[in-house]
Amino acid sequence: AKDRGRAHYRFYQEQMNLAFPNDALMESHLRRAIEKEEFSIHYQPQVNLVTGEINSFEALLRWNNRKFGYVSPMNFIPLAEESGMIMQIGEWVLEEVCKQLKYWQEKGYRPVRIAVNISPKQFIQDNFARKINEKIQKYGISPSSLEVEITESAMTDMQDTFSTLKELKNIGVVISIDDFGTGYSSLSYLKKYPIDIIKIDQSFIKDMELDDKNTAIARTIIQLAHNLGMEVIAEGVEKDRQVEILKAANCQKAQGYLFSKPVSIEHINESYMQRTKP
Ligand code: C2E
Ligand code: CA
Ligand code: CA
Ligand code: CA
Repeated sequence: AKDRGRAHYRFYQEQMNLAFPNDALMESHLRRAIEKEEFSIHYQPQVNLVTGEINSFEALLRWNNRKFGYVSPMNFIPLAEESGMIMQIGEWVLEEVCKQLKYWQEKGYRPVRIAVNISPKQFIQDNFARKINEKIQKYGISPSSLEVEITESAMTDMQDTFSTLKELKNIGVVISIDDFGTGYSSLSYLKKYPIDIIKIDQSFIKDMELDDKNTAIARTIIQLAHNLGMEVIAEGVEKDRQVEILKAANCQKAQGYLFSKPVSIEHINESYMQRTKP
């Protein structure tokens, strides 16, 4: 039975690697993924470490190709970025998320926020903030129910970045910096840009209970965020010990497998949503 298990495991691994023998094939399938309805969105809860409440979720794209099966975003997002397809895909994600928020709002569910990953290419379009505003208007959702997650790599041009963020802020959208601490930009943007939330990259959370340096870095980021009046979320929390360390450092929120993996919308509706009116 042991051998069979191992053989099965190897077979599975090979299958995973065999998926899309080359990028060109993946690209051609990716191009038809929207029309073939192969995309879906999973949601990962963000937990308030003090109260235990869950009032926000991160939207994470999932691709289940009819022929090659499940493909990780780590594999297809870079290709989508290179080929420019990320523009349509990102648009699709935003539409879906806004539809979802509208649905909850109409059904009288308690107010929650959804964070959407925005690729640098999407963010640097001239009219990005206007597009976001159009979606908010189209679906009649509350601007503060939408959060945009951008990475430091999107902050190439200071002036353009500043005006886009300013516009988003004026619209009332929540702005967060994803994977904080892994980019190469200087910290000076933190004082210039209207950022609401810093997301501590999971590489600093991983093994933090064993690695004093990771703990020191996480603590410093938490303090920095608080001193600048920003919120902070720790990503990739998998262990109770990590929660203890984060709580001791006054980290308000966390996200990770310890609480929940990203799950389907059906699961979110069943487990987390309640109506506030009949
Ligand atoms: P990210 O934005 O940093 O998202 C966090 C990733 O960590 C997700 O992987 C999530 O499933 C995973 N994760 C969450 N908790 C844990 C944990 O406790 N332990 C570990 N080991 N991992 C955890 P996922 O869903 O595979 O997404 C990978 C990346 O793909 C994302 O990283 C993001 O950069 C990109 N991505 C996903 N969806 C979208 C999207 O709609 N648009 C864009 N532009 N990028 C996306
Ligand atoms: Ca993210
Ligand atoms: Ca992240
Ligand atoms: Ca990332």
